[in-house]
Amino acid sequence: MNAFLASPAQVGGWLHVLARTTALLWPQPKGSRNFSFLPLAQGAPVSLDRYRPTVVPPSRHLLPADETLFTYRCEPTGEVRYQPPEAPPRQILAGVRPCDLKGIAQLDAVMADAPADPLYGARRAATAIIGVDCLAPCDSRCFCAATGSLAFRGGADLFLTPLADGVLVEVTSDRGAELLAGAGFAPCGNAAALREQAEADRPVPFGRALAASPAELPAVLRAGYRSPVYGRHGERCFSCGTCNLVCPTCYCFEVRDDLALDGAGGRRSRTWDACMIPAFAEVAGGHNFRPQVGERQRHRLKRKFEYLPDRFGTGPFCVGCGRCGRQCAADIDILVMINEIVAEQGGAA
Ligand code: SF4
Ligand code: SF4
Repeated sequence: MNAFLASPAQVGGWLHVLARTTALLWPQPKGSRNFSFLPLAQGAPVSLDRYRPTVVPPSRHLLPADETLFTYRCEPTGEVRYQPPEAPPRQILAGVRPCDLKGIAQLDAVMADAPADPLYGARRAATAIIGVDCLAPCDSRCFCAATGSLAFRGGADLFLTPLADGVLVEVTSDRGAELLAGAGFAPCGNAAALREQAEADRPVPFGRALAASPAELPAVLRAGYRSPVYGRHGERCFSCGTCNLVCPTCYCFEVRDDLALDGAGGRRSRTWDACMIPAFAEVAGGHNFRPQVGERQRHRLKRKFEYLPDRFGTGPFCVGCGRCGRQCAADIDILVMINEIVAEQGGAA
C-alpha cells in the first residue's frame, strides 16, 4: 500500500475537505477537561498532538445508545407491516487511536458471530476509519501496551503517524486510497523506516504493566474465582454501570417496545445496558444471578480477560484504554484488581 508525507496543516485541511461531504467525527475538547468524538465543524482546529482519551469510545458510534430495530403497524385487515430502519449514513471516524482500533475489531468479531448483527454490519460498512498512532501514553491510566493494543492497526483505512517534521500517512485499504484521492500529499518511499523510528522513540515502559501476560490471565482468573479482591473493591462500587458504558468492547443492550397510543403499532429498539447494574442479571420471578456487587465485578473482569478471549480467540477484550478507571467515581481500576488477583495467586504461571 502507498504512503505519503504531509504537514499537520495539510492534514487538517484535507480532513476539513472530507467533512464537507461526509459526517467526520474527530476527537475534540468538550467542557473543561474532556474530549469527545464530535463532528468536525468548518474552521475547527485539527491537532494530532492535543489529545486526551474521549469519555465515550469511537466504537459507540457503531452501536448507538438508542437504535430502532424496526417499527410496526397492524393494518385494519389484520396484516402486520414491519418497517426496518433506514440505511445508516456514511461516516468517517478519524483520529482513532490503536486501543480503540482494537476495541472496534473486537466488536466486529462479536457482531459478525452467527447470527450476525445486520444493523451493526450496515453501520460498520458505512464507516471509514482513520487511525492515529500514539507515541506517548495518553495519561497515567493507560495500559494499552500491556494488553497488546498499542501495535494494533487492524480496521483502519488510513493510518497517520506524527513525526518530528510532518505526518506519515499510510494507506491501508482501497477505501483509504479513495479518501486520499486529490489530497496532494507527497509520496513517501521510506515509510517503514520512518514508522520504525517513531516507534523506537516511544518511552519504555509505555504505560502501566499487567502482572501477568494476557495469555496467562484466563488461568489465573479461573484459579482465583473466589478471590476476596472482587468484594474488597466492590465495597466502594456504586453499581452505576459507568465502567460498562465507556468501555470500547462492551456491547450489551436491552430490547424494548414502545406502543403507539392507539395500540396498533409501535417501535422496537435497543438501548445500551450494563452488567454492573444490579438488575442486569435479574430474570422473571425475581431471581438475580449476580445480586452481590463483588459477583458483578468478577463477571466484568472475567468477560474481559477470560470468557470472551476464550470464546473468540482474538486476545483480551480489555484494550487497556483506562476509561473505566478514569471515569469511575469510586476510583476502581481494573488493572489494579487484576494485578492484586495475580499476586494473590502467586504471580503468573
Ligand atoms: S464505574 Fe465504578 S462505581 Fe460505577 S459500576 Fe463501575 S466500578 Fe462501580
Ligand atoms: S475494561 Fe476498562 S481499560 Fe479495559 S477496555 Fe474497557 S474501559 Fe478500557
